[in-house]
Amino acid sequence: MWGETALGLVFALFLLTIWQKRSLTLFGTMSAGVLGTLIYVWTSWPGTAALLIFFISSTALSRLNRQEKVQRDSWQVWANGGPMLLFAALYSAVPWEGFLAAAVGAVAASNADTWASEIGRRFGGRPFHIRSRKQTENGWSGAVSTVGTLGACGGAALIGGAVFYLSEELGMFMLVSVCIAGAGGCFIDTFLGAYAERINWCSECKSYTEAEVHHGRKTIYASGVSWMTNNAVNALSSFGGGMIVTALYAALLFSF
Ligand SMILES: [Zn+2]
Repeated sequence: MWGETALGLVFALFLLTIWQKRSLTLFGTMSAGVLGTLIYVWTSWPGTAALLIFFISSTALSRLNRQEKVQRDSWQVWANGGPMLLFAALYSAVPWEGFLAAAVGAVAASNADTWASEIGRRFGGRPFHIRSRKQTENGWSGAVSTVGTLGACGGAALIGGAVFYLSEELGMFMLVSVCIAGAGGCFIDTFLGAYAERINWCSECKSYTEAEVHHGRKTIYASGVSWMTNNAVNALSSFGGGMIVTALYAALLFSF
């Protein structure tokens, strides 16, 4: 009980800090609070630790690349955390360890994507675009670099490793599955980013962007699948990470 009260206080203080530092909008902060609370209720420690590592490391890494601060909104919070919440809800309904591991895998895929793009952007040089098969400018979805790929593996392995260390019920099979989910989620992200993601036009700076608002102005549709926004790509790749873990656990279940 005391432990939970202390944890709640630390979490509230953490949210207050990220809101105060303008890393998240007000609604984004409230969404993160709801998400964190539900994850704790439904998965206890394993999921909560995984989610906290994602929150803290992605907030810290986003500082690598931006001088001006970009506030994340509630849509971005749910795009990255919603799939995890879905698997956590499944686990609370059906307490099968595969769903718990899938919740960890979903957030590990989100973390892998974030680490890949932030570390790749900062240290990866000019990335290679998988559709045009050419080197491209930094920061585009659909582009990969060796350093970014290593970052993705690190982001997933950190989450899998922390849960492996903290959890009594999830063992080595979870760790391996979560690392595979991280790599798989990143692949889905890159593939959708290259072939489907919506590209917009900013009339202010006369350039293409994935952002919905650029230079303080709403951008207009230019190409790609109109609903496949960056948030949709992130949600699908995180969900894909969770599905990979579910499939691996199901395969294990039926192999005996
Ligand atoms: Zn612009």
